[in-house]
Amino acid sequence: MFESLSDRLSGILDKLTGRGALSESDVNEALREVRRALIEADVALPVVRSFTDKVRVRAVGAEVVKSVTPGQMVVKIVHDQLVEMLGADAEPIDLNAPAPVAIMMVGLQGSGKTTTTAKIARRLATRDKRRVLMASLDTRRPAAQEQLKVLGEQNGIDTLPIVAGQGPVDIARRAIQAARLGGYDVVMLDTAGRIHIDEALMHEMAEIKAATNPHEILLVADALTGQDAVNLATSFDERVGITGIALTRMDGDGRGGAALSMRAVTGKPVKIIGTGEKAEALEDFHPRRIADRILG
Ligand code: GDP
Repeated sequence: MFESLSDRLSGILDKLTGRGALSESDVNEALREVRRALIEADVALPVVRSFTDKVRVRAVGAEVVKSVTPGQMVVKIVHDQLVEMLGADAEPIDLNAPAPVAIMMVGLQGSGKTTTTAKIARRLATRDKRRVLMASLDTRRPAAQEQLKVLGEQNGIDTLPIVAGQGPVDIARRAIQAARLGGYDVVMLDTAGRIHIDEALMHEMAEIKAATNPHEILLVADALTGQDAVNLATSFDERVGITGIALTRMDGDGRGGAALSMRAVTGKPVKIIGTGEKAEALEDFHPRRIADRILG
């Protein structure tokens, strides 16, 4: 679909005959291609800028070793910088807290929150042998609580019984109580989304957080979120305080630039990725793999 960045950079830089240090003008020419590749991968513009600034600092004056071409050298610098910004090591969901450990899932409507809640619950139950309770706090969409219940039944995960008329904060309190009394290790809170970020949504999330003191607050975001990724991640992080990001639809065509954008503006790790509609389509986030994908 795209010419790879390595090919483009080789085209630009490998005509340099005098090896030795990379000059500022060589690097600037290369950075134009890097910028293009990042924008094609959906990385948000302010993040593209800060990224290329960092690469410039590393690359200008760097000695090109004999075994590589200048193009390969810049690709390596770009790749290393990407991995550094994405977080060098995978950071798993942290359950290191007294039971029941509450995990609150937040995000916009349609981002894949409910699906991801069930996927994570299933993984914790089957792979990690934890007792998990799921609760839907989405009282806005009539079918939302029912959707989680069905997913629970399909995957053998208990869900909090639905009580008509109860508000999100009361459901959240009831979920924590039920998890405590029922001896669950983990309680997953699937919150309501909205089409857009708005004050009411942020207020509701802050109230739920205050009532439940979750150990993890995961922002669920579609990997195809482009320039909006910065606003989305900063809004949720500033108002609610996220502990990590779950990136969905990584099975799509997108190159996952949103991972870099959200990590760069919040400093919070991408912890998990969704790779399909099925309950088992969940993977750990590996920064190197995403770096390769972003570079194309
Ligand atoms: P919510 O409104 O945020 O709770 O979103 P849902 O969990 O209901 O998901 C919305 C749609 O996205 C559903 O059709 C899901 O099957 C689909 N979906 C969620 N995660 C993924 C994923 O990782 N890959 C793909 N292809 N589809 C997904």
